[in-house]
Amino acid sequence: MVARAGLPIEDPEFVQFHPTGIYGAGCLMTEGCRGEGGILRNSEGERFMERYAPNAKDLASRDVVSRSMTLEILEGRGVGPEKDHIYLHLNHLPPEQIHERLPGILETAHIFAGVDATKEPIPVTPTVHYNMGGIPTDWRAQVLTQDAQGADKKIKGLLACGEAACASVHGANRLGANSLLDLVVFGRRAAETTREDYMPGQAQRDLAPNAGEESIAMLDRLRFSTGSTPTAKIRTEMQVAMQKYAAVFRRQDYLEMGCDVLHEASQKITDIGISDRGNIWNTDLVEAMELDNLMIQAKMTMFAAENRKESRGAHARDDFTERLDDTWMKHTMTYLSDPTDKPKITFRDVIHTTLDD
Ligand SMILES: Cc1cc2nc3c(=O)[nH]c(=O)nc-3n(C[C@H](O)[C@H](O)[C@H](O)COP(=O)(O)OP(=O)(O)OC[C@H]3O[C@@H](n4cnc5c(N)ncnc54)[C@H](O)[C@@H]3O)c2cc1C
Repeated sequence: MVARAGLPIEDPEFVQFHPTGIYGAGCLMTEGCRGEGGILRNSEGERFMERYAPNAKDLASRDVVSRSMTLEILEGRGVGPEKDHIYLHLNHLPPEQIHERLPGILETAHIFAGVDATKEPIPVTPTVHYNMGGIPTDWRAQVLTQDAQGADKKIKGLLACGEAACASVHGANRLGANSLLDLVVFGRRAAETTREDYMPGQAQRDLAPNAGEESIAMLDRLRFSTGSTPTAKIRTEMQVAMQKYAAVFRRQDYLEMGCDVLHEASQKITDIGISDRGNIWNTDLVEAMELDNLMIQAKMTMFAAENRKESRGAHARDDFTERLDDTWMKHTMTYLSDPTDKPKITFRDVIHTTLDD
């Protein structure tokens, strides 16, 4: 909603991955699986982590395992018809150990992958776990944009907190459990800002006479769309492009390809067609609306990742392996209100002082 309103999204290139999400569904297979002795194998049946991390093997850190899995897939050793995922094996462990130590995993693998993990491998792929970027805010949860000179400018009356926001407390990567910080600290702060800035019964600005018309036009454009491209086709193209070109393994040629593929896929949005014209429980319509929003965010992520030619936190590039503070100690600001356009990228200074300085 914020991007569609023409406001920026900050630092979308910084995305934290978890190595073992169930292929297709994305539910996480806890790292406890590998802690219990679970191992990852490619299409050749090879326990490939032995090559990437000879000592830690499958117990290497999240980033290393996710990256190794992606490399195996990119080099054609993924499993499945599209060779685009990896097998997590628990089936060599005693079934009673899995039942006792990982009962939730057995259930999740059964429901979302249709496999009995005591007998078969679980299809997994590195999966988005958290977005460090989001709607730029200050410490008061007050949403920010930029003025013509690039300086911070407050959007009065608009506050954001949680994963949607980017108060940038996590920087370019994030420790576990830090959603509590997002939600508890900044949720409280948003309430306090509201109390400080607004009074009960305070008069509101008059709404524009055509307020709401744009939203209804957007709804109707999709509800009555008669194009020849199904939402699912474009969504799959977008998902595959993101997984392939902007995942944990990032390199200029892949990212450039990703920008092109994504931009081409996004053009098909103008030819979208849905079949349900109803107003009740219309999942066809909801999915088409979601696609608009997802495409905007996917493009911001891909183009910002291509633009940042260094490695920093979760944005780890194979061709620019160093963190380059002289050039890149700055936030990316991406603007894109129409999913068929290309994002505009500007920058925002990093705040170097603490609040009491
Ligand atoms: C698989 C997985 C495991 C994770 N594990 C951990 C962990 O162990 N520790 C940790 O700290 N973090 C973890 N995270 C991250 C953490 O769960 C999220 O960062 C956190 O839940 C975000 O909370 P939120 O309230 O900001 O957003 P959400 O939980 O996404 O809530 C946003 C809400 O807004 C609603 N909404 C959206 N659009 C609209 C609209 N237009 N109108 C009205 N409502 C709307 C949504 O339906 C949703 O209920 C994990 C994330 C994932 C995906």
